[in-house]
Amino acid sequence: MKIQVVTDVLAANDRIADENRALFAANKIYVINLMSSPGAGKTSLVEKTILTLRDRFRIGVIEGDIQSTYDAERVAALDTPVVQINTGGGCHLDANMIREALPNLALDAIDLLIVENVGNLVCPAEFQIGEDAKVMILSTPEGADKPLKYPLIFRESQVMILNKIDLLPHVDFDREKARRAALALNPDLEIFEVSCRTGEGLAAWYDWLAGRVAAVRG
Ligand code: MG
Repeated sequence: MKIQVVTDVLAANDRIADENRALFAANKIYVINLMSSPGAGKTSLVEKTILTLRDRFRIGVIEGDIQSTYDAERVAALDTPVVQINTGGGCHLDANMIREALPNLALDAIDLLIVENVGNLVCPAEFQIGEDAKVMILSTPEGADKPLKYPLIFRESQVMILNKIDLLPHVDFDREKARRAALALNPDLEIFEVSCRTGEGLAAWYDWLAGRVAAVRG
């Protein structure tokens, strides 16, 4: 008997992800799967993006964390619909967790769904959730070697946001080395260099995202 445990798990996940994707498409929702290490700035980017784009689009958020509701509370404080998924130890969100969370969101009242994944650079990249785009954040204090050490997330992502560029004078981060390594893994990767703290560079990210959401709305 042939045993294909890992393949079957991922295949089952992909089937559910396809169902989620069909549901999002039927509701004309553009979905991003936001991934990074802990502390790279996912929730800060979510907050900034909500505050900038909420006049143009109706935004919903799913927060994934091992435990706690801290990030969901930050989003709820912006009067934005949010669901917190606690994975209870799991290192990533999967398609079934998203499916289970969706009845808690009014899908007919959302144009852009931002899913903030559990913070790490490994497992989240392996699981489709039904997203239109995987967006990853790399922050300058993490170091420019991350594309070489965690190649899958760079290959899978459509966008890399290089955050905390305001810290470049204070950290040993070779931005050209990081860009080269990331683009060697994924030549189509869109890269935005930003600081969520100062706002520098974020306009290009908002433009990119707004263009995608508007295209789906039709
Ligand atoms: Mg967070």
